[in-house]
Amino acid sequence: MAPALVANGSVKADAANPGSSPAIPSRAIPPIAHPTPEDAFGVAANIQYHAQYSPHFSPFKFEVEQAFFSTAESVRDTLIQRWNATYEHFQKSDPKHIHYISMEYLQGRALTNALGNLGLTDAYAAALYKLGYDLENVVEQEKDPALGNGGLGRLASCFLDSLATLNLPAWGYGLRYKYGLFKQLITKKGQEEYAEDWLEKFSPWEIVRHDIVYPIRFFGKVKVDPNGRRKWVGGEQLQALAYDIPIPGFKTKNTISLRIWEAKSPPRDFNLAAFNAGKHQEAVDLHFKAEQICAVLYPGDETEDGKLLRLKQQYLLCSASLQLQDILTRFKDRRSQDSFSWAELPNKVAVQMNDTHPTLAIPELMRLLIDEEGLGWEEAWAITSSTVAYTNHTVLPEALEKWSQVVMSKLLPRHVEIITEIDKQFHALVREIRPDLEEKLNGLAILDNSKPDKPLVRMANLCVISSHSVNGVAELHSDILKKELFADFYSLWPKKFQNKTNGVTPRRWLRFASPELSAIITKWLRTDEWVTNLDLLTGLRQFADDNQLQSEWTAAKIANKLRLAKYLEQVTGIKVDPQSLFDVQVKRIHEYKRQLLNILSVIYRFKKIKELNPEERGNFVPRTVMFGGKAFATYAQAKRIVKLVTDVGEVVNNDHDVSHLLKVVFIPNYNVSVAEVAIPASELSQHISTAGLEASGTSNMKFALNGSLIIGTLDGANVEIREEVGEENFFLFGARADEVPMLRKEREEGKFVPDPRFEEVKAFIRSGAFGDYDYGPLVDSLEGNSGFGRGDYFLVGYDFPSYLEAQSKVDEAYKDKARWTKMSILSTAGSGKFSSDRTISQYAEDIWKIQACQVP
Ligand SMILES: *Cc1c(COP(=O)(O)O)cnc(C)c1O
Repeated sequence: MAPALVANGSVKADAANPGSSPAIPSRAIPPIAHPTPEDAFGVAANIQYHAQYSPHFSPFKFEVEQAFFSTAESVRDTLIQRWNATYEHFQKSDPKHIHYISMEYLQGRALTNALGNLGLTDAYAAALYKLGYDLENVVEQEKDPALGNGGLGRLASCFLDSLATLNLPAWGYGLRYKYGLFKQLITKKGQEEYAEDWLEKFSPWEIVRHDIVYPIRFFGKVKVDPNGRRKWVGGEQLQALAYDIPIPGFKTKNTISLRIWEAKSPPRDFNLAAFNAGKHQEAVDLHFKAEQICAVLYPGDETEDGKLLRLKQQYLLCSASLQLQDILTRFKDRRSQDSFSWAELPNKVAVQMNDTHPTLAIPELMRLLIDEEGLGWEEAWAITSSTVAYTNHTVLPEALEKWSQVVMSKLLPRHVEIITEIDKQFHALVREIRPDLEEKLNGLAILDNSKPDKPLVRMANLCVISSHSVNGVAELHSDILKKELFADFYSLWPKKFQNKTNGVTPRRWLRFASPELSAIITKWLRTDEWVTNLDLLTGLRQFADDNQLQSEWTAAKIANKLRLAKYLEQVTGIKVDPQSLFDVQVKRIHEYKRQLLNILSVIYRFKKIKELNPEERGNFVPRTVMFGGKAFATYAQAKRIVKLVTDVGEVVNNDHDVSHLLKVVFIPNYNVSVAEVAIPASELSQHISTAGLEASGTSNMKFALNGSLIIGTLDGANVEIREEVGEENFFLFGARADEVPMLRKEREEGKFVPDPRFEEVKAFIRSGAFGDYDYGPLVDSLEGNSGFGRGDYFLVGYDFPSYLEAQSKVDEAYKDKARWTKMSILSTAGSGKFSSDRTISQYAEDIWKIQACQVP
C-alpha cells in the first residue's frame, strides 16, 4: 500500500527531495521535442512528436482527428508538469484543503479552455496552421463530456476553474460515468434519447491512476467484538479506481485535480475456473455487476428507477473520496507520527457537499473515525461536524432526497446504525435546549417513521444537523431556506445558515466564448485584468452612450449571431435572419422553468401577426425565438413541451405571412458546447420560472455577462442581477415568491379569472392548429380552479398577462437600437458580482477557512 499513499499526483522522491528525481529517468534522456513548448515552432514539433510516438491511430495518418488527439496530448504534458508542481508545493506548504464532492460535473470541452488558461492559444493556433489545420476546427473534434444534468453540475465545474485560478488548495471528487447525460435527437416524434459515449475513442485529459485503487464494501453485517467495538464486515467488495483530470488556473501555474472514480470488480471476481469450464456467463456476471455501477448518470429527479444503483453510486463516491486511503490518509501521511492528532483534521480538511447527493460522507467519516481509528463518539462527532458543510440547491419537495430505511439498511448496515444514533442524539438535544420544538420533532428528525410500512431517511435533515455550515445559492433562496424549508433548524442554529450566491467563470463564459466582445472590453477598459477581477466591468458604464463603443459592441454581437445562425442551419436546416431579435431560452426542460409560458406567448404572437393586414405587420419586431434543453426520458409532460415547441416551429416557420417576422427553433442536444455558441449570440434571454422555485439559476448570469437582456421573474439570482444591472435594464413580470401560496389558494377556491388571451391560446392548441398530436394532457395541466390534478401549479395562467406586457416592452426597446445597445452594455457592466471567483472567495473565507497557496 505504501507507494499509493502519496495519493496526490506527485512523486514521493520529488516531494522529499526536490533537487533529485531518481523516479523520473526521462530527465536524463534528451527530449526529442521540448516537453512544454511555448512558441509555435516548438509546439508544432511537439504535436508531431505525439502524432508519431503516442499514436492512437495509424502513425502515418494526420487527419483532423489525429491533429486533435496529438494537440491535446501536447497540452496535457504542460498540464501534468504544472499539476505535479502544484501538489508538490501543497505538500510542502501543508495548507488546509477543500475537497469538493459532487455527483455531477458538466465540464464541457477542455482544449480551448486549457490553451486560454495557459496563455498558449496563439502559439497552438500558429503551430496547427503550420501543420495544415485551423485551431477552430481541431477544437470541434473533442467530445463534450456531460457528466451532469444541468446547473448543479456546471456550477461544480465553474468552481474548479475558480479554485485553480485563485490558487486555492483543492480537490474535486466525482464519478466517471461511462455514459453521461443522453444525447438528444429531435425527430417528428419529439425528443429521442441515445447513449452519449464520451469515451468512445478515449479522453486525452484523464490520467488513470493504477496506483490508486480502493476497496468498497456493500451489504454485509455489523460484527461486535468482545470489547463492544462494532465493525462492518462481509458482503460484497469491489474496487474504486481513480482517474485524475488536471484543471488549470488562469494565468497561474496552479493546476488542481478533478478525481473521478470508476467501479471495478476485483480480479478474483472474474471466475477463471468457471470460464475455462465453459460457463462464460457465470464468469462474467459478477464482473459486469460491478462495472454497471458507473455506467450511467442518474437523472436528477423525475424517476423512480434504479434507486439501489443510485445509492451505490453515492456511497462509492463518498467512500472512495473519503477513505482512509484518500482524504484521510493524505492527512495522516503529512502529520509526523508523534504529534498526530485527529482533532486537527478540521484545521486541514474541509469537505463541501454539493447538494445532498454526497450526504453519506457524514456517516462514512464517523464510521472511519470510530470503527477504524478507535475514536469515541463525541470526538468523532466534533471532528465530522466541523469538517463537512452542505449546499442546498432546491426547495422542490420532489427533489429533496429521501431513502428507504430498508434499502439503506441492507446496503449500508453500519451507516444506518450511525445515522440512527445521530438522530437519537438530535432528539435529546432538542428536548434539552428547545422543548418548545419537541412537537415538531417528527418533521425535523432524520428518520421519518410516519409511514410504518415505508420508513425513510431524510438526507437534507441529516446534512443540516451534521454540517457546520448550510448555504443557499442566491439571497432569495437562502431566505426561503431560513424562513420556510429549514425555519425550525434556523431557529436552533441561526449562525449555521449562510448565503453564497452562485457565479460563473468569466474565462469560459466570456473571455473564450466571445473573443470579439472580450477584445472590445479590454480595449475600452485599457486592461484585461477584468478576466480575474470582474468588478472592473463597471468601468464600461461611463462609455455606455459612446457611439464608437456602441458600434463596436453591435458588430461583436452580429458576429456572434452569425456564428449561431450558421450552427442552427447546420443542425436543424432552418435559416434565421441575423438582423432579427435573438430570443433564447436554454436550460433543462421542466414545468417550473415554464418553457410553456414562453411558447404560449409565441403562439399568441403568431396569431396576432396572422390577424393583421400586411401593412400593420410592419410594426412587429422580427424575432427568432430559440429553445434548447433536455427533458428527462421519463418526464412525460416535459417531453410534450419539447414536441409542442417543434410543432409550433413547423407551422410558424412555414407560414409565408409570418415567417419573416417570427421563427421558432428548437436547438437540439443542449450542452456546454451549444451554450458557448448560443449565449454570446443572445440579445434577450428568458428566466421565467415560477417565483420561489429556481434556487439561483446560473445561465441568467452567463447571459447577462454577455450583454443579453433578461426577461424574468423575481426568482433566484434574477433578483440580484436586476439590482446590479439596474431595473431599467431588466424586463420584470410575474407574481412574487411571497404571493405564490395565496395565488394557489385562490385557484383552489375557484376564484381565479383567466385572461381571455390565455384562454384563446389554449383553445387554439386544442383545435389541432399544430398537428394531430394529443396536447390534451399538456393543456389540461394549465386549467385552473382545480379539477385537473394540481391545477396550473406553476401559475402560467396568472403570469401570462404580465408576461405579454413585458414582451411588448422588449419590442419597444428593441426598435431603438441605441437604447438597446446601451442596455446591453450596462448588462455586462453590472455582471461583475456573478463571477464564480467572488463566490469561491466567499466560500473560502466564510466556510472553508482556506488560503491561497500559489506555486512560485
Ligand atoms: C449554465 C448551464 C445550465 C444551467 O442553466 P439554468 O438556466 O441556470 O438552469 C444548464 N446546462 C448547461 C449546459 C449550462 O451551461
